[in-house]
Amino acid sequence: MSAAEKINLLGKTREEMEAFFLSLGEKKFRAHQMLKWIYVQQVDDFEQMTDIGKGLREKLSEIAEVRPPEVLQQDISRDGTRKWVLKVDGGGAVETVFIPDGRRGTLCVSSQVGCALDCSFCSTGKQGFQRDLSSAEIIGQVWLACRSFGPRKNLSQHPVTNVVMMGMGEPLLNFDNVVRSMKLMKEDMAYGISKRRITLSTSGIVPMIDKLSEVMDVSLAISLHAPNDELRNELVPINKKYPLSELLNACRRYSEKIPHKHKSITMEYVMLRGVNDQLEHARQLVALLTDLPVKLNLIPFNPFPHAGYERSKQKDIMAFHKLLNSNGLMTTVRTTRGDDIDAACGQLVGDVMDRTRRSERWQQEVFLRAAGSDD
Ligand code: SAH
Ligand code: SF4
Repeated sequence: MSAAEKINLLGKTREEMEAFFLSLGEKKFRAHQMLKWIYVQQVDDFEQMTDIGKGLREKLSEIAEVRPPEVLQQDISRDGTRKWVLKVDGGGAVETVFIPDGRRGTLCVSSQVGCALDCSFCSTGKQGFQRDLSSAEIIGQVWLACRSFGPRKNLSQHPVTNVVMMGMGEPLLNFDNVVRSMKLMKEDMAYGISKRRITLSTSGIVPMIDKLSEVMDVSLAISLHAPNDELRNELVPINKKYPLSELLNACRRYSEKIPHKHKSITMEYVMLRGVNDQLEHARQLVALLTDLPVKLNLIPFNPFPHAGYERSKQKDIMAFHKLLNSNGLMTTVRTTRGDDIDAACGQLVGDVMDRTRRSERWQQEVFLRAAGSDD
């Protein structure tokens, strides 16, 4: 059997893994052993799985594999941010970013190669849509990030405390694989990350928000970016299909279904100079969101070549922030991390030419740092 035909055990949920072992005539607990070998011990070679009998190990080697995506490039930023460029089957590349912040380690995970939704300020959107990632390719990003820190000293701990589905792609348009991967993030026998610390960010695919609430209650973030339909149609074209009133109703329904006390939804708002960053926009936001359980996260726009937008002036961001907070909308401003390695939001392109260019820039930066001229 060629490698391409082998069954990849990475990305199988607990239920799927149990069904796989039952189909081999094995007991369910083999599935649990396998999950722990893959996700806790970070092992991808059946030979090392010593509590699984030799006969079964040989059989597994014939028919199955544990295959994470191939790493094309790994960068570490001045601020500790790590970025991986991963090769995906069938061509193309996606990016994953790890952002350390004290005890917290947030992994920004991609769900698709490119994106079909073409938001006007997003470099992933400019690339168009290539394909959905498999669950192995999605959970494989967590696997690779954890493994990059070496063997675990304490098996119950790993560096990824939080996951945000905010890398490339629209996660709700790759629903099944994203949900399977999030189940593994939550699964005690895999990563055991609490649902509150897993955030799915969407541009607002209304029916899928309802569908998500039926299967999982992870934290939800909405890419709002505009306080009225006219401007949002321009920035986030999916708004023409699912306008603000429908989107906000879906948010209300979602938050009502979340049983835990952290039920507020994060509204992401990219700050584009002269486009959506005026006080009038802030006032409209207050009126729009006033009776919803939301918090706002202002994201200074991250530029990329030919973007056609500029980042808002710092004083405009601060005035916007102040107006929202003083009107009772809990608002934070996101600090941009890892932009020296193009790991910031919206800079994840995954195209080979860009990668080469960035890699050159990265090497240049390493050189500058070594020369002591960091800033
Ligand atoms: N497709 C999903 C998740 C990926 S994008 C979504 O749109 O929500 C993750 C976040 O980065 C979104 O809020 C997105 O709007 C934002 N973003 C995209 N391009 C950006 C840029 N150039 N600068 C800052 N944020 C950007
Ligand atoms: Fe796609 Fe999100 Fe970028 Fe819009 S912002 S193009 S939905 S990845």
